[in-house]
Amino acid sequence: MKAVVLEERGPAGANWRDFPDATPAAGESVLRVIASSLNRVDLYMRDNGAGITHVLPQVMGVDAAGVVAEAEPGGGLRPGMKALIYSEAFCGKCRYCLAGDQPLCESVKIMGEHRHGGFAEYVAMPTRCFFPLPDDADLEEAGALMTGHLTAWRMLFGKRALQPGESVLIVGVGGGVAVACLQLAKLIGARVFVTSSSDEKIARAVAMGAEGGVNYGRDKVSKAILDMSGGGVDMAIDSVGAASWGESLKSLRRGGRLVTCGATTGSNPPADLQRVFIRQLEIYGSTGGSVGELRRLLDVFSRGLVRPVIDARFAMSDIRTAFDRFETGGRFGKVSLVV
Ligand SMILES: [Zn+2]
Repeated sequence: MKAVVLEERGPAGANWRDFPDATPAAGESVLRVIASSLNRVDLYMRDNGAGITHVLPQVMGVDAAGVVAEAEPGGGLRPGMKALIYSEAFCGKCRYCLAGDQPLCESVKIMGEHRHGGFAEYVAMPTRCFFPLPDDADLEEAGALMTGHLTAWRMLFGKRALQPGESVLIVGVGGGVAVACLQLAKLIGARVFVTSSSDEKIARAVAMGAEGGVNYGRDKVSKAILDMSGGGVDMAIDSVGAASWGESLKSLRRGGRLVTCGATTGSNPPADLQRVFIRQLEIYGSTGGSVGELRRLLDVFSRGLVRPVIDARFAMSDIRTAFDRFETGGRFGKVSLVV
């Protein structure tokens, strides 16, 4: 088969080439991939990968949607049905899996990180990671859905769920997770504020229902958010890290919560503990999403209530250009990859 194979670190290390066919182990099935999408972690895998157990060469890609090619006998799938892959091959036996909290699984193997990924003509994964889609599902949208929207879902609704009428600050709108957060927060009737260094992205977010935005290149975020929201937001979603952390904390109302799912500008901002305890703030991390959360997301997607915003689409063979687009500042939404 053909696949985007990561052979060495760096932009020249990921190439569309021949690779041994995806062969299913016991308990696994095979998907013929139609579409996938780029995520921040792909960039990390390409350029660094430290801390993620894997061996090169490896097929990249944490998203995959397509058609079942080989179904495990008795596994409930049938060849030809549309499906999306839940990227976390979870053990199903540890204390976290038994509690329905698969993203915390003690021996999780994530597609495209710890095992071969979805930027390929075929991918083998445990049958329990296959989620059937309706016959009329748009597979390109499905291929851009799982990682971005499921991550957003868990951040918003996972621990201390955002409520209708509450307010949320989404830091750095434009990336796939941030745009998904905007969509999902609007879906439940929450008030949404965004930040960006681009007035154009803020305008797009407002057109999608955000109440307001702050250009952090020009204005002080916390002051503007306190003004616009009337005293601070209930939740801040921050995947930017060190560069935005202080302003995100200051944008919260008393008792507010800050959720982090990334640290692209650095992992060690000042903790500002005095602010945290006096204002009784909550800070917690989030990554991925559970099977239960994915089922609810797929219900919403299947009914057409939320569709990923596709910024640009590329053939998988054009992976280098796709990465270039992913890394540009102008991106708004997902970079889609099709076979
Ligand atoms: Zn487990």
